[in-house]
Amino acid sequence: MGDHREGTAVDQLSGGTDTTDASGAVAAARRDRAVRAAVAQGLLGPDTPLVGLLDVAGIRESAAELRAAFAAVAAPGTPVLHAFAVKAAPLVPVLRLLHEEGVGAEVASPGELALARAAGVPAERTVLDSPAKTPAELREALASGVALNADNPQEVARLDALVAAATGPLPPLGVRVNPQIGGGSIEALSTATATSKFGVALRDEGAREWVVRAYLERPWLTRLHAHTGSQGIPLALMAKGVAAAYALAEEINERAGRRQVDTLDIGGGLPVNFASDATTPTYAEYARVLREAVPGLFDGRYGLVTEFGRSLLAKHGTVVARVEYAKSAGGRPVAVTHAGVQVATRTVYAPGAWPLRIAAYDAGGRPKTGPEVVQDVAGPACFAGDLLATGRALPLLEQGDYAAALDTGAYYFAHHYAYNSLARPAVYGFLTGGDGDGSGAGSGEVAFATVREEQSVAEIVAEAGGARAAALTSLA
Ligand SMILES: *Cc1c(COP(=O)(O)O)cnc(C)c1O
Repeated sequence: MGDHREGTAVDQLSGGTDTTDASGAVAAARRDRAVRAAVAQGLLGPDTPLVGLLDVAGIRESAAELRAAFAAVAAPGTPVLHAFAVKAAPLVPVLRLLHEEGVGAEVASPGELALARAAGVPAERTVLDSPAKTPAELREALASGVALNADNPQEVARLDALVAAATGPLPPLGVRVNPQIGGGSIEALSTATATSKFGVALRDEGAREWVVRAYLERPWLTRLHAHTGSQGIPLALMAKGVAAAYALAEEINERAGRRQVDTLDIGGGLPVNFASDATTPTYAEYARVLREAVPGLFDGRYGLVTEFGRSLLAKHGTVVARVEYAKSAGGRPVAVTHAGVQVATRTVYAPGAWPLRIAAYDAGGRPKTGPEVVQDVAGPACFAGDLLATGRALPLLEQGDYAAALDTGAYYFAHHYAYNSLARPAVYGFLTGGDGDGSGAGSGEVAFATVREEQSVAEIVAEAGGARAAALTSLA
């Protein structure tokens, strides 16, 4: 864990800095400048000890890489809709930024659909997937032109009734299948196991034939959907899931005698490297793996939909927390910070599956130097396991310093967990100036935009039934 890159505050989970990843190094430099500026500009301090930061240039870069990766392998003219999985970062300004970068929205609840709309994502760039859509949600999607993928035969039956009653044009409709290709290293995130709750389990007895017939009997089913991966799934296994969906589409179209399935929705799930600043695997690698495994996918006969979430946002977010107290217990230093289970729920409850890199900054927000000391980085919640990192070698964190949890742009600070009624922290987007191109290499000012304000104590009380204090005592 010893030597980290000169001038950055990063420790390495797996050892070895990947200095070949130039854009990762540039992003790390931008991050360090943003932390320094957040302290200097008073966004972070004794009274606001916790913030989430989003690197706007980094998000734009990832969106551009995604578009370029698929454009490079798809036949010219192939319609491709990249729909960001809103659950990964359900923040309206983020959705607007991605929309401006040519990325639509994949939603899975009325709340997520409302967020996409608030961001200005049009219905024709929105896809609704969820394993538990109510009749009202289905009706709303059909009426407003939002594409949707039915999860199971009961949902297809609901669509039958709605389609029969529809008066206007229908949005693209499809069925989600589970190719049952197996899981990855994280059971809770493996969507394509034999017993996964998602989609029609394709290898179950009679299921494949049911799906084919469902399409043959319903000319309005024109899409096929599979989302077979997420963190912990190897690329080759993800490609196997896409290959299974492709083969099924080919079978349906052959038996239909026409190109009934015109679009394949291949889901998201590209894993993210949490061990260094390098972006690996890349969208370009995944697109090449797909082209190798499923050549027909890109020959222009099928439109494509993707639903990436974590891989678009994770590396562009940082949680920064003030060290309130620095203590020692049983001979081990413990930094008690303001970031714990409320902003890093997965890491705290499943530290083995979700380790995060921690960067140490001094009280002025400068990367901390000095000998590394094995220490724990704790959160503010009142249970012993509320730890961001245990036994981590870092420059010793002292009172008033800052600890940053890296790669937390997806499924972390945007996924607040209200333990101990801890407030949702403010989230700021930043742009590093002085370099013209946003690369972060310059030394100008850092500009911040508020994405979300910190939750107030009054809001916490209101959301906890504050206006109904006597509701239970007055119940006769
Ligand atoms: C969660 C989810 C995604 C996004 O997964 P990531 O691992 O964040 O890329 C895409 N599609 C569906 C249906 C999902 O449930």
